[in-house]
Amino acid sequence: MKQNVGSSTQHIHDWIGFALDRNEVNYLSNMIRVRWNKQFVRRFADAGYIAVPPRGIIRISPLIWERALETERRETIIHEACHIVAFHLYGTEIKPHGVEWRQAMVNCGVEPIRCHDIPLIGINRFHVQDCPKAEADRCYVSRNKLAGLKRGQLLHCSICGMRVDQESIEF
Ligand SMILES: [Zn+2]
Ligand SMILES: [Zn+2]
Repeated sequence: MKQNVGSSTQHIHDWIGFALDRNEVNYLSNMIRVRWNKQFVRRFADAGYIAVPPRGIIRISPLIWERALETERRETIIHEACHIVAFHLYGTEIKPHGVEWRQAMVNCGVEPIRCHDIPLIGINRFHVQDCPKAEADRCYVSRNKLAGLKRGQLLHCSICGMRVDQESIEF
């Protein structure tokens, strides 16, 4: 565990435990591992499951975790734990966000929605200083396009189309 997110670890395990409890599969608790994944710049978290022997893993973006509200963190962990529950009970051939997963979420009293809407500015999008759009809907470039600039490609603002150079990106 990373130091700056380490204090969250107990919560994470409590929330996983809650989801398992509500779905009556408590015995899975010591078969689920949690890992931080810095590569996740858009995805908040994901879950994997292997049936034999039963083993689940939840991977979380520390970058997005840092800026998420407590309720968003909780719902995300329950969301991922419910994937493991559904895969465990119904097999890995089910649709990830199908009826089995939705029922597991409902059992936890959590609305079965699929996406977070945590702003990703500074993670996978970066504001552009000199663009005409200021204030609320500011201009940005994506992390991918920025990588292209570093490889020598021309970079244009995703919103207004203005040519952008490295100096005008806000990191
Ligand atoms: Zn999901
Ligand atoms: Zn722009």
